[in-house]
Amino acid sequence: MIVDPDLPHPKRRIYCNRTLNLRSIGAIGFDMDYTLIHYRTEVWEAHAYEHAKRRLLERGWPVAHLEFDPTFASLGLILDLDLGNVVKANRFGYIKKACHGTEELSFEACRRAYARELVDLAEPRWRFMNTLFALSEACLFAQCVDLLDQRKLEELGFLSYRDVYGGVRSAIDEAHMMGHLKSEIMAEPDRFVELDPELPLALLDLRHSGKKLAIITNSEWFYTRAMMSYAFDRFLPEGQTWRGLFDLVIAAARKPVFFTMDSPVFRVVDEERGLLEPVVGGLALGEAYVGGHATLVEEAFGLGGEEILYVGDHIFADVNQSKKTHRWRTALVVRELEQDLDALESFKPEQAELSRLMAEKERLEHCFSQVRLALQRKRASYGPQVEDSEEALEAQIRDYRAQLVELDGRIAPLAERSSRLSHPRWGLLMRTGNDKSHLARQVEKSADVYMARVSNFLMQTPFVYLRSPRGSLPHDHGPEGGA
Ligand code: IMP
Ligand code: MG
Repeated sequence: MIVDPDLPHPKRRIYCNRTLNLRSIGAIGFDMDYTLIHYRTEVWEAHAYEHAKRRLLERGWPVAHLEFDPTFASLGLILDLDLGNVVKANRFGYIKKACHGTEELSFEACRRAYARELVDLAEPRWRFMNTLFALSEACLFAQCVDLLDQRKLEELGFLSYRDVYGGVRSAIDEAHMMGHLKSEIMAEPDRFVELDPELPLALLDLRHSGKKLAIITNSEWFYTRAMMSYAFDRFLPEGQTWRGLFDLVIAAARKPVFFTMDSPVFRVVDEERGLLEPVVGGLALGEAYVGGHATLVEEAFGLGGEEILYVGDHIFADVNQSKKTHRWRTALVVRELEQDLDALESFKPEQAELSRLMAEKERLEHCFSQVRLALQRKRASYGPQVEDSEEALEAQIRDYRAQLVELDGRIAPLAERSSRLSHPRWGLLMRTGNDKSHLARQVEKSADVYMARVSNFLMQTPFVYLRSPRGSLPHDHGPEGGA
């Protein structure tokens, strides 16, 4: 059958914040790492971590015994460089969960530490985890905060958590920039890469529907070529390679600067030998480049901002900046969404029970408050008076209070389970308690659409009209069913 009347499975859908008609898009730019190429995070990040650890050992840090914990952090958390914490905030910036070093803070300790603080990502105190590449950094930072607390870094002259972060950051940076990490990955890509056999067909569909396709990656050209060839060529029709899918390839793009400044561009003149020569004039379709900037891409395609869609995984460097400075349409790839959707699905019956109990609690609290008010008026002899005596009202208050305590006892374990769905410490990516998480807010602000994997374009087709849902407002669901 050609037509499947059902919408794709929730994990295979493209979710929409801002309405996007894919038919009006003339060109699509793709980020590579964690977008077109998905890595087994626990392996890739363990590797980056080991390289960074080696850098720190060379500088005398006592880190030999430390090991990467892939479960420590998750996307969208925030490092607090003043207090040495890793925190999760809601959409308003209120911090709802925190770890000091690797130790989880109790609800009370978290509340005390952040009673007067709101996360403002514009301040240098906070570092947002924009991409899965931040997992190794967060883990190493937290472990080194523990070392500082144990006074094991004093000899090195480190006195503040901020110093510790500076050391960890530069070690991670070097790990990425030095050739060893990438050559090890290129030597054994099957250890690191999670292949997606459907992705090449999704790109063929988009290309044959008339869209120009581009890669804009911060990875170096030699790494881009090796990884794309590994992940795509095997799934393409006989005789085709990944290069044929893309009208432009831009490696070492230096995002986010790629979107904000006109920087020099070099053309790869000889793809086999990897020779570079300066570009004079604009970019030519069909070529691969090292460096460049977004305006050149618009000129090469002859398209304006709203006709270009950029698909990436880095919330700041990919989607925030391309939208902010060039008004490109944006799509964010968040692979862990699959895990969250699974967790939500299996929690459905308990969620229904939790919602029912919360509605009951709201009703009981309303009754409780009314009786308290009646008692207050009776005692002070003002306002409308009820017939019940003070003693009768006090008895009713006691009764409601007991019912509420009993209800809270049933709600607490369910609420606790709900806050640890998908990730045992941090919970769902896009939620903080009942509210949206800070990550969800960033996604909402910068990404027109988001999806778990790029191959979801295959299910939704190149002709999809993605409409944002009617936004929910607190007064949407009034007692009579709402609007
Ligand atoms: P993209 O996602 O395709 O733009 O590529 C990301 C590239 O940036 C990869 O080559 C990563 O190794 C590299 N990268 C990720 N994090 C860091 C960092 O902290 N410092 C330097 N390079 C990084
Ligand atoms: Mg990326």
